[in-house]
Amino acid sequence: MIRLEYRNVTMRFPAAHSQPVTAIENVSFAVRDCEVVSLIGPSGCGKSTLLNIGSGLYSPSVGHALVDGDAVEGPNDHVAFMLQKDLLLPWRTIAENVILGAEIKKRDRNASLRRARDLLAAFRLDEFSERYPHQLSGGMRQRAALARTLAVDPSVLLLDEPFSAVDAQTRIMLQHDLAQTLQRAGKTALLITHDLLEAVIMSDRVLVMSPRPGRIIDEIRIEMPHRDQPLRRRQHGKVGEYVTWLMQRLDIGQSALDEQAAAGPA
Ligand code: ADP
Ligand code: MG
Repeated sequence: MIRLEYRNVTMRFPAAHSQPVTAIENVSFAVRDCEVVSLIGPSGCGKSTLLNIGSGLYSPSVGHALVDGDAVEGPNDHVAFMLQKDLLLPWRTIAENVILGAEIKKRDRNASLRRARDLLAAFRLDEFSERYPHQLSGGMRQRAALARTLAVDPSVLLLDEPFSAVDAQTRIMLQHDLAQTLQRAGKTALLITHDLLEAVIMSDRVLVMSPRPGRIIDEIRIEMPHRDQPLRRRQHGKVGEYVTWLMQRLDIGQSALDEQAAAGPA
């Protein structure tokens, strides 16, 4: 069963004094129920634009996104979004932040608070539910933001570089928490990351985009067990091969060497 689908999506942004900018061109792919798919590609190739279209914030110039078979026409209950910055409201406690989405949707407050408590416990934040965001570490705030994303019980999670602002050790913990939660709750996710290792250890599949105008140029299926245990996957013998292949596909090693050559001898 397909949860999220992009059909022939093209996005052009108007530009003030020139031709419109084509950010993405004719992108089609589907994400199945309970699948975790990562999207990688050079900066500016349209990854965030794709997520904005999936969440209904942008309407594509051509084609459309579908969630559970219905065309996305504006922000909706079925999709939740999480960004690099946690965007917690500083004047609300952690528990109040987690129930924000439910509050906007006018759901029952007590039921929402109970659900928030369960989620915060799952993210090891039960003792912090009455604290304010500034009283928590960066990693804890990202966990609270994850709890908030899940609190509305979306069909699909769209995650835009959710861990890029935290330190390396915290990131490893957050990867673990996210992987466990996705597995336990049986969620479908599209994850944008610039970290190729993260893409490999977190995903069932990785989609590779070209430079702008972004197109899907390749995809690999990650044939490793334990998608719910990224730490364990890190040690898997095939990880290096996948990362090397993705680097080659993105032309990363070669462009770094070309730059070095162009700069001349040190
Ligand atoms: P990525 O997330 O892959 O780095 P983005 O999706 O943010 O890339 O951007 C892709 C291209 O679309 C960029 O050239 C960017 O400047 C342009 N773009 C993105 N959002 C807008 C917008 N709201 N208005 C105009 N141009 C935009
Ligand atoms: Mg982006």
